[in-house]
Amino acid sequence: MITETSQALNALKAIIEIAKMEASSKVASQIADKVIPLQSLILSLEAQCFDLQAKHHLAEEENRKLRQQLAEREQWEVEAAKYQLLGLGYGAFVYAAKPDNQSEEPMHWLCPHCYQQQRKSILQRTDRCAPSGAAQLACPACEKVIVTNAFPGQ
Ligand SMILES: [Zn+2]
Repeated sequence: MITETSQALNALKAIIEIAKMEASSKVASQIADKVIPLQSLILSLEAQCFDLQAKHHLAEEENRKLRQQLAEREQWEVEAAKYQLLGLGYGAFVYAAKPDNQSEEPMHWLCPHCYQQQRKSILQRTDRCAPSGAAQLACPACEKVIVTNAFPGQ
């Protein structure tokens, strides 16, 4: 549509140029009366064409972003489907690989907070202990700490 509008504008400009050449003839004043409104129309059409091009560009950019978000979401859903919520007791939860997940990765747990943010972050054991003596697992991304004596694969 933008191409057709540009072609129409170019055709109108050509008509205006012809009309200007004719303006030097004996009917100059009559033609000049017609040229001015046409020039106004061309300027208006050019402005509309630029506006349409800007809107088209924005729509393309938004489309590209949405496609990227969709691809990321689909990729996350495939990854997320490999895990399930696991209670460690005392109100602590992690995401652990489903038993039927035949992953090559070593046993690990994912941070439940990051999982809800559609981010895979593997919990790491810290060298700190809770006052009860229980071990702590920490998320390297969001720094959440989970106190537990359970570990992946046990
Ligand atoms: Zn986290």
